[in-house]
Amino acid sequence: MDALLERLRAGLPAEALITDPDVTASYAHDMASFCDAGTPAAVVLPRSVEEVQHVMRTATALRVPVVPQGARTGLSGAANASDGCIVLSLVKMDRILEISPVDRIAVVEPGVVNATLSRAVGELGLYYPPDPSSWEMCTIGGNIGTASGGLCCVKYGVTAEYVLGLEVVLADGRLLNTGRRTAKGVAGYDLTRLFVGSEGSLGIVVKAVLALRPRPPQQLVLAAEFPSAAAACDAVCRIMERGHTPSLLELMDRTTVRAVNAMASMGLPESTKALLLCAFDTPDPAADLAAVGELCKASGATEVVPADDVAESELLLQARRSALPALETVKSATMIDDVCVPRSRLGAMIEGTAAIAEKFGLTIGVCAHAGDGNTHPVVCFDHTDPDESRRARASFDEIMALGLELGGTITGEHGVGVLKKEWLARELGEVGLELQRGIKSAFDPLGLLNPGKLF
Ligand SMILES: Cc1cc2nc3c(=O)[nH]c(=O)nc-3n(C[C@H](O)[C@H](O)[C@H](O)COP(=O)(O)OP(=O)(O)OC[C@H]3O[C@@H](n4cnc5c(N)ncnc54)[C@H](O)[C@@H]3O)c2cc1C
Repeated sequence: MDALLERLRAGLPAEALITDPDVTASYAHDMASFCDAGTPAAVVLPRSVEEVQHVMRTATALRVPVVPQGARTGLSGAANASDGCIVLSLVKMDRILEISPVDRIAVVEPGVVNATLSRAVGELGLYYPPDPSSWEMCTIGGNIGTASGGLCCVKYGVTAEYVLGLEVVLADGRLLNTGRRTAKGVAGYDLTRLFVGSEGSLGIVVKAVLALRPRPPQQLVLAAEFPSAAAACDAVCRIMERGHTPSLLELMDRTTVRAVNAMASMGLPESTKALLLCAFDTPDPAADLAAVGELCKASGATEVVPADDVAESELLLQARRSALPALETVKSATMIDDVCVPRSRLGAMIEGTAAIAEKFGLTIGVCAHAGDGNTHPVVCFDHTDPDESRRARASFDEIMALGLELGGTITGEHGVGVLKKEWLARELGEVGLELQRGIKSAFDPLGLLNPGKLF
């Protein structure tokens, strides 16, 4: 321990190294519940690439594990510390280095907060689409680490589609450049894409080249109430089948609507069984919403209410963004799932989840990026009750099994972390797992980067 701290100190300014156990303990875990977290030996907050290289060279020399972290808003324990590790928090590397309207790119350090980047490019008439609900807190490095999604993915896709190039410090301290800043480029294997979603297990992202789009018109939102989740899912299928391209298509079930109202007095309709939010950022959003409104009615919607203006639309989006924090207040604890199925199977997924809730006698609220088939069933339970806790974990696992059965994946956007690592093997199969382990050891032969995650 002394040798580690002495060596770290030799290449870092004093304020970049934290060793006070009370403070380092606060960096032990992300926002996922019930994921093991160890005790870090030290926390380093670098401000330059050279400082990150110094940390990695030290870690390799002394065989000390390193856990990269962004804002620790992750929901799978992927940023959790392991015992004796160096936590490498990238939040102080938070400069936007360049925004080029001609090349339509931004070059950023990993600690830039998602909403800060979105606002900065917006001022220049540009748009960085990936928008996790945690966008006011989470960092671009964390978004790359988890390949995060958000509300706009149904039209604009996920983080992976916007990462053009990366600068990465490898486990032994070497600096790797991947990808490009050009509109096209196919030279060699796509290592950039490999890093997206790698959960800090292959290298430390210290710079990213991100693709931007022209800023679209402000979106208008429609809220539709349904007598059942199945009817709302039917509307989702009709909307997509008819070739509409909404900029957002989100679903909240009754439990979620009630939780949001209880937490934030949003005035959402409590009698509804499912609330669908649909938005368009097209030149004539009102016309597109009118067409979608008719489809909702054909699927049985009891109320279809388009927002009058952008301010009202923003309120509805705020309600959706507060769904997860609101569900966390229903009971003393939650387990947040993230199963994504083909959108044609969304109805079966939500009905199956309700059956699982009934079987285990639990409250499971569902909010979903419905247009992507990505559900977030949130198991709400009393963590002081051992039997209820056991049933919660069992139901969480059954939800993933159901997702796989329906041709889906165990995680659409939150990642594997420590929460779902037993399930990754099931999804990948033996051959897939073996190749993925081979890739990990090519980048990190000593197994020092974020150990205990993914596999
Ligand atoms: C209220 C709430 C709403 C959310 N909504 C969404 C949502 O809509 N969509 C969604 O996808 N997620 C959502 N999330 C989950 C979370 O915000 C995302 O996973 C986010 O991308 C994590 O970013 P972070 O900066 O907090 O990263 P962290 O949690 O700190 O880290 C995430 C992973 O990235 C790795 N990492 C971080 N920085 C680097 C780096 N520089 N180099 C290499 N690896 C790195 C870490 O090791 C870890 O594996 C939500 C979370 C909350 C609390």
